[in-house]
Amino acid sequence: MDNYKIADSFSLLAKLMDIHGENSFKSKSYASAAFAIENLTVQLADISPEKISSLKGIGASSAQKISELLEFGQIKILDELIKKTPPGVLEMLNIKGIGPKKIHTIWKEMEIESVGELLYACKENRLKLYKGFGEKTQQNVIDTIEFYFKNKGSHLYAQVALVAPHMKSFIETIFPKKQVSVTGNFKRQMEVIDELEFLIEAGEKDIENSMVNVEGFTLKEKNETGFIFSTSVGVDVKLYWAGTENFTEKLILTSSSDSFNEAFTSFIKDPIKNAADEQAYFDTAGIMFIPAPLRHEAGVLDRAKNGQVPSLIRPEDIKGIIHCHSNWSDGSNTIEQMAGAAMDRGLEYLVLSDHSKSAFYAQGLTEERIREQHLYIDELNEKLKPFKIFKSIESDILNDGNLDYSNEVLATFDLVIASVHSNLKMTEEKAMMRLLKAIENPYTTILGHMTGRLLLSRPGYPVDHIKIIDACAANQVVIELNAHPNRLDIDWRHIGYALEKNVLISIDPDSHHTDGLDDTMYGVLTAQKAMVTKQHNLSSFNLDEFENYISNRKKLKNI
Ligand SMILES: [Zn+2]
Ligand SMILES: [Zn+2]
Repeated sequence: MDNYKIADSFSLLAKLMDIHGENSFKSKSYASAAFAIENLTVQLADISPEKISSLKGIGASSAQKISELLEFGQIKILDELIKKTPPGVLEMLNIKGIGPKKIHTIWKEMEIESVGELLYACKENRLKLYKGFGEKTQQNVIDTIEFYFKNKGSHLYAQVALVAPHMKSFIETIFPKKQVSVTGNFKRQMEVIDELEFLIEAGEKDIENSMVNVEGFTLKEKNETGFIFSTSVGVDVKLYWAGTENFTEKLILTSSSDSFNEAFTSFIKDPIKNAADEQAYFDTAGIMFIPAPLRHEAGVLDRAKNGQVPSLIRPEDIKGIIHCHSNWSDGSNTIEQMAGAAMDRGLEYLVLSDHSKSAFYAQGLTEERIREQHLYIDELNEKLKPFKIFKSIESDILNDGNLDYSNEVLATFDLVIASVHSNLKMTEEKAMMRLLKAIENPYTTILGHMTGRLLLSRPGYPVDHIKIIDACAANQVVIELNAHPNRLDIDWRHIGYALEKNVLISIDPDSHHTDGLDDTMYGVLTAQKAMVTKQHNLSSFNLDEFENYISNRKKLKNI
């Protein structure tokens, strides 16, 4: 073992002690030992233990640990500390700009245990509220984490969506006059993407030869269907080859899941050549068109055979913004700016739902602030007519399942979104108790981000989707499809059952700034995968329909 390896162990030991909030005198002595070891001119492995403790900058305790390391290959207390640290917290050490002491605060005070969760907290402006974390640190952390993620394998759909059109144009310049189509998981609108896939009207050899020496592309793998490249933009790219006559067929097959593929090919039997486009292909096959986002499960084929594939919801079917935050709680913009941005997008209303009082980290609203906000919204509504701002709140679902205010206060809102933000680490039993109690509360109109998951960084708390959906059906509660690209929660795989039970979905951006309103689109793309139509979605109701819906519901609930 060389000195660098030994120094690394000491440096990690010092950092972990700080992360765990242990004696800082000790951690400092290990940090300075690490520094001293790195600068030694002799290799520690070559000298006797007695000599080690006499070296400058290395105390008795460090010397003993060096011997331990040289003899057993590990330091016991370092090993124990590693075991006691969640992997996501260890991973934070890779983020430049946040030292171990800050990680201690992030982990122990903010209860954040992964890098992705940390990024999300920064974007919600939560970091800067803690001592030692200013606006500038927060921005640095965002930049560093985004860079870090870019260099790891998986990406959110929204991140890949930014790259995809440019990548397509670039590939088209390499294969001029040939068809190039985006395909694979991206075409199928999956929430997480590992490779950005393209189908190219070119032969295997042609692709191989054309891609040699293309700057920014490094061949990672070649298999029987295509080539996978790592690229300088951070997303791996897969290229499939296809001939002219089977291009459309390959486009359909490469954009399908394995199980859909299998069922579809056995239905088609003989290949269909020279189909002008995907629609023409399905026409020739004699079944209704199945759009790419639905090419997931074999069951959709039966619907297509019976002509029962519904018209999927489209981004232009959104009529209002439900669920957004202003600078009254943790948003970046004023209420008027949020409303203006919604009007600019041609929308008819905005449901303002700032955080409730228990969400202290997000400056949740006290009863007094709610009264003030409602008066202000009345004023704005006079000014902005016929556009309308609805009075709402994103009420925390408290630990015992209660909402965050008395019924008198809850009654002053047009509608209430109930969400879990605290004590996310819980058993299914506990989660179900909290959620079911909130759903049964007559004031709960919408159940917000059902599992609290953050894609690529935090799994949701465990829930029984069937029971929750049944409860929402019984209590006329709408289920949010939170459209933030990190959340997309409720998972689209469970929406089918909600629709079966006539539960409304609400595609909500949960935006904390004006640009965030556009996230609604990611919710729409995800909803398409679950065959959601505009009739199933609350935010597709126009102003009149929406007003009727909430007033009828209040009557029904006698509130
Ligand atoms: Zn929330
Ligand atoms: Zn929210």
